[in-house]
Amino acid sequence: MARSTDPLLAEIARRQDDLITLTQDLIRIPTLNPPGQNYRAICSFIAERMGKQGWTVEMIRAEGTPGDCTDYPRWNVIARHQGDTPGDCVHFNSHHDVVEVGHGWTKDPFGGELDNGRIYGRGACDMKGGLAASIIAAEAFVARYPDHRGAVEISATADEESGGYGGVAYLAEKGYFDPDRVQHVIIPEPLNKDRICLGHRGVWWAEIETKGRIAHGSMPFLGDSAIRHMGAVLEEMERHLFPLLASKQTDMPVVPEGAKQSTLNINSIHGGEGEQATDYTGLPAPCVADRCRIVIDRRFLMEEDIDEVKAEVTRMLEKIRTERPSFDYDIRDMHEVIPTLTEKDAPVVTTTAAAIEKVLGQQPSYVVSPGTYDQKHIDRIGKLRNCIAYGPGILDLAHQPDEWVGVDDMTDSAGVMALVLSELLS
Ligand SMILES: [Zn+2]
Repeated sequence: MARSTDPLLAEIARRQDDLITLTQDLIRIPTLNPPGQNYRAICSFIAERMGKQGWTVEMIRAEGTPGDCTDYPRWNVIARHQGDTPGDCVHFNSHHDVVEVGHGWTKDPFGGELDNGRIYGRGACDMKGGLAASIIAAEAFVARYPDHRGAVEISATADEESGGYGGVAYLAEKGYFDPDRVQHVIIPEPLNKDRICLGHRGVWWAEIETKGRIAHGSMPFLGDSAIRHMGAVLEEMERHLFPLLASKQTDMPVVPEGAKQSTLNINSIHGGEGEQATDYTGLPAPCVADRCRIVIDRRFLMEEDIDEVKAEVTRMLEKIRTERPSFDYDIRDMHEVIPTLTEKDAPVVTTTAAAIEKVLGQQPSYVVSPGTYDQKHIDRIGKLRNCIAYGPGILDLAHQPDEWVGVDDMTDSAGVMALVLSELLS
């Protein structure tokens, strides 16, 4: 295979031990989000490593963004290697935060244990393995082509798991992803080494509240139950809204198959008396619920318009109003992201596809993510459309107990990333 003959791939293979150690070192810095632990430590670690090799490093704190405070500052790092001649800038962006550990682990979640070709730990696949692979790819490329064209950038950014506002969104607002500064972006999220992720579906979060009137629970006819009103909302969703969403199919190559349609998740429901602490031994007091709230998480397709997505829900609520005399509600927008999709003939896509073929000896498949990731900020704020997600790791393992990343997968995808650099910059 090409692996043995291509000098750049041989260079990556020689650095496999370094790749393993680097991944372990990154896992051993617990960057839990929330609350946002050790962000400065992981950024400094990368800054020191790249700085020693002559890269220009910048530590950027996203001051004033959600969650940023003295105890948990939102730190980001960007390392840049400028070549000798003008050319494009290729940027690899990874988030450095990881989600909570959860239960069910048989390995130390922050031990970075190497066992049978797999490195275990929280964030191993999502996405410290991808971050390490991109660093090794960039270092190997620069070592082999010190006089390359343009520039290579590596960033490790905060808070992707909680929306990315203290990370990529902040950097994009500051101009770090402007098209005159960066021309190609690869986000090494764990989407499998033979797949190119072109974008993601859209999302709309909203809170719906039904209103009632409190009364004694022994005489519910004197009150008006907000929970019963919410029951009517849920019934209407079951009867009409869910079938309608199931009928909407996209041409986007979304994986898994079930996400090729519009979806809606009822994220939470709360109504009536609040829950007591688990050690409370008293009984509830009899009351008619005067408020009931649900949070909906609606994922929509490229083919849908966000205004229509919202109007569907409002129409449903208005219909219920005509059927239930005392029905009243509020709806509150919480969050929205429009779908994004990079064209298949964009330079970063065609170059990565060719590199995958060279390293793996097979054509890549093209996918779209059911959920959003930091590409949304690069597209919407940075106005850069030449962006994909490509990286090692099995998507299904993300956020699971005993999360791991395969050493061979990391090595292969580092090879792909290095070939992309040599195609675009040497
Ligand atoms: Zn991730």
